[in-house]
Amino acid sequence: MSQPVSADQPPANLPLSEQPPANLPLSPPSAVFAELTGQDAVVAQLSRAAAAAAALLSGERPEPGAMTHAWLFTGPPGSGRSVAARAFAAALLCPDGGCGDCACCRQVLAGTHADLLLVRPEGLSYGVKQTRDLVLRASGAPAGGRWHVVVFEDADRCTEQAANALLKAIEEPAARTVWLLCAPSAEDLVPTIRSRCRVVTLVVPASAAVAKVLMTRDGIEPAAALAAARAAQGHVGRARRLALDAQAAARRADVLRVPLQVTSLGPALSAAATLVRTAEDEAKAVTEELDEPERQALRRAFGEGSTGKGVAKAMRGMAGALKDLEDRQKSRATRVKRDTLDQALLDLAVFYRDVLMLQLGADVELANGDREPDLRRLAAASTPEATLRRLQAIMHCRERLPLNVAPLLAVEDMTLALVKG
Ligand SMILES: [Zn+2]
Repeated sequence: MSQPVSADQPPANLPLSEQPPANLPLSPPSAVFAELTGQDAVVAQLSRAAAAAAALLSGERPEPGAMTHAWLFTGPPGSGRSVAARAFAAALLCPDGGCGDCACCRQVLAGTHADLLLVRPEGLSYGVKQTRDLVLRASGAPAGGRWHVVVFEDADRCTEQAANALLKAIEEPAARTVWLLCAPSAEDLVPTIRSRCRVVTLVVPASAAVAKVLMTRDGIEPAAALAAARAAQGHVGRARRLALDAQAAARRADVLRVPLQVTSLGPALSAAATLVRTAEDEAKAVTEELDEPERQALRRAFGEGSTGKGVAKAMRGMAGALKDLEDRQKSRATRVKRDTLDQALLDLAVFYRDVLMLQLGADVELANGDREPDLRRLAAASTPEATLRRLQAIMHCRERLPLNVAPLLAVEDMTLALVKG
């Protein structure tokens, strides 16, 4: 058995059997990994890779097999896939292995570092042209002399042709290019790409760990932080929104009223309308926050407001670019709307899961502990079998939505099924 190494006993003097296990970093992890709440195994894996990458650059002998040029970050939404990928990028690009404080780290975390290519689909999928451009840009030598890092968010949204373009780049890697793909699970990528990537598996952090982040970083008081963390099911960003944004919390409350409302046909149909409208409102709030700054940045880039030779010509070019941007924003809005409705359905499913846990007398932490009286009332009023059928109806609705079924129709079918039980 390994024993903890105390600070005043140099580990070098320990007999071999008492060395810390090899999968733990021997030194404290770099500051850039501090964001990765409850992901100790991932932090250990990435720290060793970054150390090996640094050794490669300085001509020392790297730990064999610790570093590779293609990585796949997987984990459920909110587990911090892109946060982890970006922290790893900082650890690779920072001369101090990811101090979190130097200009380089700050640029990586802000997404403006010259050797970092940060890509995410603005529309519903990645096209082949977009991916070919990316592959070409990524193959160049790094300006800072270390690595060229591509963080490819939502890589599961590649079209088949785009995936082929990507595969070629990963099969024949440029010497200093590191690919960091992010996807919900390894199965979401075609096997040819998956098999060439080192998989990093993020876990859903425990509510207590998420609450701790909200308390220490956002100054949220403990009870509210824990309630938000439980409600968000380990999704740090969502937990923060629920704790800080009263409207987001109100929208969630609307969603969770649905199980109490679905008593007969009329209320079921109006509950469906509420669900769809609430998701649309939330999606609108999210996209509006993103759209306007993008439009302003584009106008500034084209020199709007300045005068002089060439400005008029530039402004004509801007019209086209603005149209492009608006198209991309429109398809992003569609995606956010779909994701938001899906999130509402998941909230609903988690609510019924809590009901089921009470019906079965299971000793687990309730995600909706703040609504325990409602949960108990529903649990007493139905059977576990009916709750399971209701859960299935919600999951069925989630499966139908991406198939271009009109959202209101699918949700109405679902709420009617909830009435029936
Ligand atoms: Zn740094």
